[in-house]
Amino acid sequence: MVFVSKCLWGKNCKYNGGNNLRTELIKELEGEEIMLICPECEGGLAIPRAPSEIEYGKSGADVINGNGKVIAKNGSDVTEEFLCGAKKVLELAKKHLPTKIYLKQSSPSCGCGIIYDGTFGGNKKSGNGVTAQLLLEEGFSVEAVD
Ligand code: SF4
Repeated sequence: MVFVSKCLWGKNCKYNGGNNLRTELIKELEGEEIMLICPECEGGLAIPRAPSEIEYGKSGADVINGNGKVIAKNGSDVTEEFLCGAKKVLELAKKHLPTKIYLKQSSPSCGCGIIYDGTFGGNKKSGNGVTAQLLLEEGFSVEAVD
């Protein structure tokens, strides 16, 4: 089994109610057993919702360690929701043991290697989203999909 960020499969779970359909990924994974995951939805956030970013200067690792927050563009603190979603996805991963987890690049949840920088200016920086970080810390194989 492989896990895939739900928005990459064309499901409308993005903050704005849209998706990040990647048809080439769907073709690549033909024949695989797929589980679609959306950590932000698992954490109880609505669709649509305000976009969120990990605060400036911090990363998913800081959020997990209690040294950083995830803040929505409207100013609300959504750190707990992001942590809750990450933990739920980790539980699913421990149960189903996916051989690979494909996650949407740049997201404050799913981003792996690159995330938005916390300014809501469209700028990116090195780092992992909260869920990607937790899965990597637990030894799962994660691949970023831009
Ligand atoms: S990037 Fe991750 S958290 Fe964001 S909509 Fe896609 S699956 Fe959900």
